[in-house]
Amino acid sequence: MSFSLPKLPYAMEALQPHISKETLEFHYAKHHKTYVDKLNGLVEGKPEAKMPLEELIMKADSGPVFNNAAQVWNHSFYWNCLTPKSHGEPKGSLGEKITQSFGSFPAFKEEFTNKSVNLFGSGWAWLVKKPDGSLSIEQTSNADLPMKHGMKALLTCDVWEHAYYIDYRNARPKYLEAFWNLVNWDFVQKNLEA
Ligand code: MN
Repeated sequence: MSFSLPKLPYAMEALQPHISKETLEFHYAKHHKTYVDKLNGLVEGKPEAKMPLEELIMKADSGPVFNNAAQVWNHSFYWNCLTPKSHGEPKGSLGEKITQSFGSFPAFKEEFTNKSVNLFGSGWAWLVKKPDGSLSIEQTSNADLPMKHGMKALLTCDVWEHAYYIDYRNARPKYLEAFWNLVNWDFVQKNLEA
Protein backbone atom coordinates (compact mmCIF):
# COMPACT_ATOMS: atom_id res chain seq x y z
CA MET A 1 0.00 0.00 0.00
CA SER A 2 1.18 3.51 -0.84
CA PHE A 3 0.26 5.29 2.36
CA SER A 4 0.42 3.80 5.83
CA LEU A 5 -0.98 4.59 9.24
CA PRO A 6 1.90 6.03 11.30
CA LYS A 7 2.54 4.52 14.70
CA LEU A 8 0.87 6.41 17.56
CA PRO A 9 3.70 8.17 19.51
CA TYR A 10 2.38 6.81 22.87
CA ALA A 11 0.22 4.00 24.22
CA MET A 12 -3.56 4.07 23.67
CA GLU A 13 -4.16 4.64 27.40
CA ALA A 14 -1.36 7.22 27.81
CA LEU A 15 -3.56 10.33 27.49
CA GLN A 16 -5.99 9.30 30.25
CA PRO A 17 -7.80 10.75 32.09
CA HIS A 18 -7.99 13.62 29.57
CA ILE A 19 -8.57 11.51 26.45
CA SER A 20 -9.63 7.91 27.02
CA LYS A 21 -8.21 4.71 25.60
CA GLU A 22 -11.62 4.11 24.01
CA THR A 23 -11.45 7.44 22.17
CA LEU A 24 -8.04 6.54 20.75
CA GLU A 25 -9.26 3.07 19.81
CA PHE A 26 -11.89 4.75 17.65
CA HIS A 27 -10.16 7.98 16.65
CA TYR A 28 -6.75 6.53 15.78
CA ALA A 29 -7.39 2.86 15.04
CA LYS A 30 -10.68 3.36 13.15
CA HIS A 31 -11.12 6.96 11.90
CA HIS A 32 -7.47 7.70 11.07
CA LYS A 33 -7.00 4.19 9.63
CA THR A 34 -10.11 4.59 7.46
CA TYR A 35 -8.71 7.79 5.89
CA VAL A 36 -5.50 5.87 5.07
CA ASP A 37 -7.41 2.90 3.62
CA LYS A 38 -9.75 5.11 1.57
CA LEU A 39 -6.82 7.14 0.19
CA ASN A 40 -5.01 3.96 -0.84
CA GLY A 41 -8.16 2.73 -2.60
CA LEU A 42 -8.58 6.06 -4.44
CA VAL A 43 -5.01 6.30 -5.77
CA GLU A 44 -4.38 2.61 -6.47
CA GLY A 45 -2.62 2.18 -9.82
CA LYS A 46 -2.39 5.98 -10.37
CA PRO A 47 0.69 8.27 -10.38
CA GLU A 48 -0.61 9.82 -7.12
CA ALA A 49 0.13 6.52 -5.37
CA LYS A 50 3.86 7.25 -5.62
CA MET A 51 3.72 10.87 -4.46
CA PRO A 52 4.81 12.03 -1.04
CA LEU A 53 1.67 12.83 1.03
CA GLU A 54 2.29 16.61 1.21
CA GLU A 55 2.84 16.84 -2.56
CA LEU A 56 -0.41 14.98 -3.15
CA ILE A 57 -2.27 17.36 -0.77
CA MET A 58 -0.89 20.43 -2.56
CA LYS A 59 -1.73 19.05 -6.00
CA ALA A 60 -5.21 17.65 -5.31
CA ASP A 61 -8.33 19.69 -6.02
CA SER A 62 -11.14 19.53 -3.46
CA GLY A 63 -12.69 16.10 -3.58
CA PRO A 64 -12.21 12.64 -2.10
CA VAL A 65 -8.44 12.37 -2.76
CA PHE A 66 -7.77 15.75 -1.14
CA ASN A 67 -10.14 15.07 1.76
CA ASN A 68 -8.64 11.71 2.66
CA ALA A 69 -5.01 12.75 2.06
CA ALA A 70 -5.44 15.90 4.17
CA GLN A 71 -7.17 13.96 6.95
CA VAL A 72 -4.28 11.45 7.01
CA TRP A 73 -1.82 14.36 7.41
CA ASN A 74 -4.00 16.28 9.91
CA HIS A 75 -4.36 13.29 12.23
CA SER A 76 -0.67 12.36 12.14
CA PHE A 77 0.10 16.00 13.01
CA TYR A 78 -2.55 16.07 15.77
CA TRP A 79 -1.17 12.95 17.51
CA ASN A 80 2.24 14.61 17.59
CA CYS A 81 0.72 17.75 19.12
CA LEU A 82 -0.30 15.67 22.17
CA THR A 83 1.84 14.04 24.86
CA PRO A 84 1.23 12.50 28.28
CA LYS A 85 4.30 14.49 29.44
CA SER A 86 3.10 18.01 28.67
CA HIS A 87 4.93 20.69 30.65
CA GLY A 88 1.91 22.96 30.63
CA GLU A 89 3.24 26.14 29.05
CA PRO A 90 5.45 26.99 26.08
CA LYS A 91 8.98 27.99 27.05
CA GLY A 92 11.95 29.64 25.34
CA SER A 93 11.60 31.33 21.95
CA LEU A 94 8.13 29.82 21.40
CA GLY A 95 6.87 31.22 24.71
CA GLU A 96 8.33 34.63 23.86
CA LYS A 97 6.84 34.62 20.36
CA ILE A 98 3.39 33.69 21.71
CA THR A 99 3.54 36.48 24.32
CA GLN A 100 4.69 38.96 21.66
CA SER A 101 1.92 37.93 19.24
CA PHE A 102 -1.06 37.53 21.59
CA GLY A 103 -0.14 39.66 24.61
CA SER A 104 0.28 36.75 27.04
CA PHE A 105 0.03 32.97 27.16
CA PRO A 106 -3.45 33.09 28.83
CA ALA A 107 -4.66 35.47 26.09
CA PHE A 108 -3.37 33.08 23.41
CA LYS A 109 -5.03 30.14 25.16
CA GLU A 110 -8.32 32.02 25.37
CA GLU A 111 -8.33 32.94 21.67
CA PHE A 112 -7.35 29.41 20.59
CA THR A 113 -10.04 27.93 22.86
CA ASN A 114 -12.71 30.32 21.54
CA LYS A 115 -11.83 29.57 17.92
CA SER A 116 -11.94 25.82 18.66
CA VAL A 117 -15.20 25.88 20.61
CA ASN A 118 -16.98 28.20 18.15
CA LEU A 119 -15.90 26.54 14.92
CA PHE A 120 -19.19 25.64 13.25
CA GLY A 121 -19.46 21.99 12.25
CA SER A 122 -16.41 19.77 11.76
CA GLY A 123 -12.90 21.09 11.40
CA TRP A 124 -9.61 22.06 12.97
CA ALA A 125 -8.19 24.97 14.96
CA TRP A 126 -4.56 25.85 14.29
CA LEU A 127 -1.70 27.96 15.53
CA VAL A 128 0.12 28.85 12.31
CA LYS A 129 3.14 30.77 11.12
CA LYS A 130 2.33 33.03 8.18
CA PRO A 131 4.74 33.71 5.28
CA ASP A 132 5.78 37.02 6.94
CA GLY A 133 6.78 35.09 10.08
CA SER A 134 3.86 36.27 12.23
CA LEU A 135 1.73 33.87 14.30
CA SER A 136 -2.02 33.55 13.90
CA ILE A 137 -4.87 31.33 15.08
CA GLU A 138 -6.90 29.96 12.18
CA GLN A 139 -9.93 27.71 11.70
CA THR A 140 -10.36 25.26 8.83
CA SER A 141 -13.47 23.28 7.89
CA ASN A 142 -13.62 19.55 7.30
CA ALA A 143 -10.23 18.36 5.97
CA ASP A 144 -8.81 21.78 5.00
CA LEU A 145 -5.38 22.63 6.39
CA PRO A 146 -2.88 25.54 6.60
CA MET A 147 -0.41 24.35 3.94
CA LYS A 148 -3.14 24.74 1.33
CA HIS A 149 -3.22 28.46 2.24
CA GLY A 150 0.54 29.06 2.32
CA MET A 151 0.76 28.86 6.12
CA LYS A 152 2.84 26.57 8.33
CA ALA A 153 1.03 24.54 10.97
CA LEU A 154 2.55 24.73 14.46
CA LEU A 155 -0.25 23.26 16.64
CA THR A 156 -3.72 21.87 16.00
CA CYS A 157 -6.83 20.77 17.83
CA ASP A 158 -9.21 18.36 16.09
CA VAL A 159 -12.75 19.57 16.79
CA TRP A 160 -14.62 16.96 14.78
CA GLU A 161 -17.16 15.35 17.13
CA HIS A 162 -15.38 11.99 16.84
CA ALA A 163 -12.45 13.57 18.73
CA TYR A 164 -14.46 14.08 21.93
CA TYR A 165 -17.93 12.53 21.79
CA ILE A 166 -17.04 9.33 23.70
CA ASP A 167 -15.41 11.26 26.57
CA TYR A 168 -17.33 14.52 26.68
CA ARG A 169 -20.47 13.93 24.57
CA ASN A 170 -21.55 17.31 23.16
CA ALA A 171 -19.37 19.35 25.56
CA ARG A 172 -16.64 20.66 23.25
CA PRO A 173 -15.44 23.20 25.87
CA LYS A 174 -14.65 20.32 28.30
CA TYR A 175 -12.56 18.63 25.59
CA LEU A 176 -10.66 21.90 25.11
CA GLU A 177 -9.93 22.04 28.85
CA ALA A 178 -8.55 18.51 28.60
CA PHE A 179 -6.55 19.38 25.45
CA TRP A 180 -4.48 22.02 27.29
CA ASN A 181 -3.20 19.34 29.69
CA LEU A 182 -1.74 17.38 26.77
CA VAL A 183 -0.08 19.88 24.42
CA ASN A 184 3.40 18.84 23.29
CA TRP A 185 5.11 22.24 23.38
CA ASP A 186 8.44 20.70 22.31
CA PHE A 187 6.77 19.59 19.05
CA VAL A 188 5.27 23.08 18.55
CA GLN A 189 8.70 24.64 19.18
CA LYS A 190 10.26 22.31 16.58
CA ASN A 191 7.64 23.33 14.04
CA LEU A 192 8.32 27.02 14.73
CA GLU A 193 12.05 26.51 14.10
CA ALA A 194 11.68 24.27 11.03
MN1 MN B 1 -10.30 13.31 13.89
